[in-house]
Amino acid sequence: MSRVYNFSAGPAVLPEAVLERAASEMLDWQGSGMGVMEMSHRGKEFVSIAAEAEKDLRDLLSIPDNYKVLFLQGGATGQFAAIPMNLLRGGDRADYINTGSWSEKAIKEAKKYCQVNVAWGADEKTPMHIGAQSEWQLDPKASYVHFTPNETISGVEFHWVPDTGDVPLVADMSSTILSRPVDVSKYGLIYAGAQKNIGPAGLTIVIVREDLIGDVLPETPSVWDYKVQADADSMSNTPPTYGWYLAGLVFKWLKEQGGLEAMATVNKRKADKLYAEIDNNPFYSNPVDPACRSWMNVPFVLADDSLNDAFLKEAAAAGLSTLKGHRSVGGMRASIYNAMPEAGVDRLIEFMQDFARRNG
Ligand code: PLP
Repeated sequence: MSRVYNFSAGPAVLPEAVLERAASEMLDWQGSGMGVMEMSHRGKEFVSIAAEAEKDLRDLLSIPDNYKVLFLQGGATGQFAAIPMNLLRGGDRADYINTGSWSEKAIKEAKKYCQVNVAWGADEKTPMHIGAQSEWQLDPKASYVHFTPNETISGVEFHWVPDTGDVPLVADMSSTILSRPVDVSKYGLIYAGAQKNIGPAGLTIVIVREDLIGDVLPETPSVWDYKVQADADSMSNTPPTYGWYLAGLVFKWLKEQGGLEAMATVNKRKADKLYAEIDNNPFYSNPVDPACRSWMNVPFVLADDSLNDAFLKEAAAAGLSTLKGHRSVGGMRASIYNAMPEAGVDRLIEFMQDFARRNG
């Protein structure tokens, strides 16, 4: 077996120890005589797997007791609709901060359900910085403020938490959750598709303050009514059982690594060294304001873009996979989530230096 260093933005690399454990339990989970995929979600085995995963996530993020944790389907994109359906609570408007493509998608969907005030960033297609909160034009009548802490495509990340007072703050943490500690109490709702730092695609996690749930738009599908799902322990219908189980294994692995403080230290170090190479080597560049560069998704361009194909081909031959930038921005993107070993980043940097020497 030879595994590559996989820099995919998602679905993305998972910790090898997690995959090995899942493989060893594939046919027989802990003497039950069946694999997790084959279990009833109502049986005691799966109910224990589900409860333990939730407990470990609560431990990792120190989630306060007055927050519900939901394990849902439909991706972060499903939440783009579920959020206004659940959080308008009798209101008809919401604030959105537009820092890039994923913010824009969330805005477009929310517009089907309410008046959206884009409080910052309105017309910029690929903003490469984040406006200070003093520049935001928040609507005092908004039911919530939505933002995207990490823009997966452009690599723009908040390294601070907005202060929206009594107005609930809603965060699409799809590509940054579990990369560092978070003070959950500052948020009304945090959501994330699993396929980057949590587990396989197909699972979506929602962490929501319990006083915000229960007053939904009448047309809300019951599977996306947070109160219905919270009351049913996320099992108002069949949940994504295998993804939930794998997420649980990832949470255990994160605990073994020393938890989120330890992950933050390694993640920052990985990102710092990659940005240092990009900044110090005239062959490469990154357009994002250093104050808001992502620790998870590092886009960069070559000084001569006619060399892009050669770069990707030679990188793949060197065991460095999926470095092509998103089609909307071009160039390269290295996604360096929790499960990307530091050795993978080191190998990428060595390759970049070598490629630049040979082609510069
Ligand atoms: N939000 C962000 C920040 C993302 O990176 C992605 C996917 O890459 C999404 C939302 C959409 O997630 P999904 O495909 O799970 O709906």
